[in-house]
Amino acid sequence: MDIETTGIVIREYPKGERDKLIIVLTPEMGKIAVWARGARSQKSPLLSVSQLLSYSRLKLKKNAGAFYLAGGEVINLFFEIRDSIGRLSLSQYFCELSDRASADGLEGGEILSLLLNSLYLLCKGESETRIKAVFELRLMSVIGFRPELSGCAVCGGETDAMYFDMREGRVVCAQCARGGRGAGAYPVNRAAYEAMKYIINADAKKIFSFKLDEESERILSKATEGFMLTQLDINLKTLDFYNKL
Ligand SMILES: [Zn+2]
Repeated sequence: MDIETTGIVIREYPKGERDKLIIVLTPEMGKIAVWARGARSQKSPLLSVSQLLSYSRLKLKKNAGAFYLAGGEVINLFFEIRDSIGRLSLSQYFCELSDRASADGLEGGEILSLLLNSLYLLCKGESETRIKAVFELRLMSVIGFRPELSGCAVCGGETDAMYFDMREGRVVCAQCARGGRGAGAYPVNRAAYEAMKYIINADAKKIFSFKLDEESERILSKATEGFMLTQLDINLKTLDFYNKL
C-alpha cells in the first residue's frame, strides 16, 4: 500500500551498515517507525529526508504492518538551528521528549505543530528559555498532564508569588503556603505564573506570543522542566546534555 504524508524525523537508529530505522511524527498517523533502506549511504536519494529534524513530504510503502520509506521531498531542514550547539541540542531534546511522551499513533497533529513552531522560532533566534518552557508545558497539557492553574488549590486566591506543586500539578497561594499547604512546592513569581496559565490556555497559534523578563523566563523554565520530569519520571540524555552546555 502506498501512503503519502508529511512528517518530521524525531529519532534515527542505524541498522546494519546501510539502513536506518527512523521515527517520524506525522499529522494523521501520529508517531510511526519507518525503515529507510540504504539511507546511510551518501549517495542515497533518502539521505536528506531521513535525517533527524528533517521535515518532509514522504512517500511510504506499508507492507505486513511495517512502513518503508520510498522517497520524499524536503520541506524544511531547519539549517539555522544547526549553526548553534545550544539550539541544536535543544532541538534534539524536543525530538526525544516528543518521542518519549507520545504514544504510537496518538496526538500526532498537536505535538507535530508544537514541535514545528518551536523549531521555526529557534531558527529565528528567539529566546531558547521561553521556547523550551512553552514546549514542555504545552506538550504536557496535550498528552494529558494539564496542571490546574486557575488560582490557589486551597482557597482559590492568587497572590504575587504562587507555589507550584509539581507532583499534584496545582498551585497554592502565598498565604496558604505559609499555613503549611505549600510544602515542597516551587515558588513562581506572578509573571511566570501568568505565563504558565497562558501557555496551557491560549490558542495553539499564539502560545509563544507573550513577553517575559529574563528572570521570570528562568523561573518559568525551571517550573516547566521540573513539572515534566516529576510527572513523566524519565531521564532524557538530550536534556542533561543541553543543561550542561
Ligand atoms: Zn490559598
